[in-house]
Amino acid sequence: TEELDLKKYIREIPDFPKPGILFRDITPLLAEPKAFQEVIDRLTAYYRDKQITAVLAAEARGFIFAAPLALALGARFIPIRKPGKLPFETKAFHYELEYGSDSLEMHTDSIHSDDRVLIVDDLLATGGTIAACIELTKHSQAEVVSCAFLIELAFLNGREKMNGCDVYSLIHYA
Ligand code: IMP
Repeated sequence: TEELDLKKYIREIPDFPKPGILFRDITPLLAEPKAFQEVIDRLTAYYRDKQITAVLAAEARGFIFAAPLALALGARFIPIRKPGKLPFETKAFHYELEYGSDSLEMHTDSIHSDDRVLIVDDLLATGGTIAACIELTKHSQAEVVSCAFLIELAFLNGREKMNGCDVYSLIHYA
């Protein structure tokens, strides 16, 4: 079967959210079931034999791909959220971004020490968000098997922040 050219389903929006930024908009891909399905199928094919036990993603766009992928792999889905959203006992983690800092929270019982974790997001830019998720997972003694993205902005070198972790992405911008 022919592979779709997934890049065709990404819309480029200049100067969003700030002047000078070219935003990659994934909503046309989400609106085309055969493209969205192919994304999940390709990720499932890559990870099927890697014994993933938990798929972790930070809100909000990471959830879109992580949840169907977790089901396809028969793995647990672990949501990471902005502070104050998770109802049970939480652990917070702070991380530095290009301008300023941010924090996220996870439930303290969500990652197990024997988990084989896959971290998912829609887009890898500078890698700050995902580096923080990797740190968080390692604190739980679990293994980060890989990080998966729909889109990788390769020119921002986010991969270098992944600390040697396997990175798999479907669409690349040099
Ligand atoms: P990083 O932490 O610099 O790698 O930023 C990645 C995060 O920013 C991801 O969660 C993305 O959802 C978001 N992001 C950055 N640039 C874009 C874009 O062009 N399109 C969609 N999301 C973006």
